[in-house]
Amino acid sequence: MPFLEDGSEKGLKGHFKEDFSHRTRQGMAPRAGHVDRSAPYKRIATEEAWTFPALVKAQLDYFNSGDAPDDDSLRMGAMFNHMPSLQDMLQDLGDLRIAHMDELGIDRQLLLLTAPGVQVVRPGEGTALAREANDIAAEACRNHPTRFSAMAAFDPRDVAGSVKELERAAGLGLNGAVLNSHFQGHYLDEPEYRPILEALEALDLALYIHPTAPYNAPHYEQRGFFGALGGFPHDVWLHTMGLVMSGAFDRFPKLRLVIGHLGECMPLHLYRFDWMQGNADGRTRPLIDGGEQIKLQHPTSYYFQNNIWITTSGCGWEAGIKFCQQVLGPDRVIYAMDYPYQQSSDELAAYDRMDMTPEVKKMLMEDNARAVFRIRG
Ligand code: MN
Repeated sequence: MPFLEDGSEKGLKGHFKEDFSHRTRQGMAPRAGHVDRSAPYKRIATEEAWTFPALVKAQLDYFNSGDAPDDDSLRMGAMFNHMPSLQDMLQDLGDLRIAHMDELGIDRQLLLLTAPGVQVVRPGEGTALAREANDIAAEACRNHPTRFSAMAAFDPRDVAGSVKELERAAGLGLNGAVLNSHFQGHYLDEPEYRPILEALEALDLALYIHPTAPYNAPHYEQRGFFGALGGFPHDVWLHTMGLVMSGAFDRFPKLRLVIGHLGECMPLHLYRFDWMQGNADGRTRPLIDGGEQIKLQHPTSYYFQNNIWITTSGCGWEAGIKFCQQVLGPDRVIYAMDYPYQQSSDELAAYDRMDMTPEVKKMLMEDNARAVFRIRG
């Protein structure tokens, strides 16, 4: 069954037949619709994936070497790297991608180096690949200044190298930084990674934590849940709540964190987080913080309303989006598509139909992205 149901025999539909033919449209999926080509807002999609040949090769070389740890994240990368049609779309930062954007109705993509990124390659190779990624992304933005913006890649296992590369990326004019969640089971709330958070705040770069498959967690894989059905949101939940409970946003109050997929379910739990905050807040975490006692300055919900923004990637669902706008504020919810993994002009048409004031709709589709990712032009 084709992913797009617009009757087109070219472009996206042909691409999806090869790699995603097992996916069907059912249940909550949007009904067929036409995108409003004269909508009073630009559509800026903010979680759009790409990759490049040297990274594909480095992931496959390490995966096949027998030296790599048992990492479902790397395994997922190897799987994607063996899908030629998907790779055609991921590796193109020019005509093919722009043709797809035009076909769908997307004005601008914010490019994120796709999961699992540079953080799964052989230790010591990640920062050089991040540098190459950031040069390629910056060039694409220069070549197509009205169509592309991009987040910087970095390999957090190399803390000093990451700080240097983030400084360089800010100089290249990139719009923030992306991390594909855990790195071999490690998270940014561990104290040794604080210089990275400090640099992100100082450089005014938003951090996007994108999902990857959880580490050392066969119970997900065995049930077919390592991705969107469980592993992805759970790992970003752990990462985000780890940062909140570590006091990261008290230490770096101007740090901006963005998470996708309607906040990976967390907005629905803000009320309970505040009730139960004492389960974690004020306790020592000797395995993580070496016994330092951390007491938060605010309720958990405060950080979701001041430091955290969410995108709608993969979740073009009016009820969920409106709930998040209500509890977080309409300025904190940002449109994203998740090209090329999940894409649909029917979904965009559903956004056009959503019952919101023109002002809030424009915030969702355009203005919030410009504000958080410092997008100009
Ligand atoms: Mn994504």
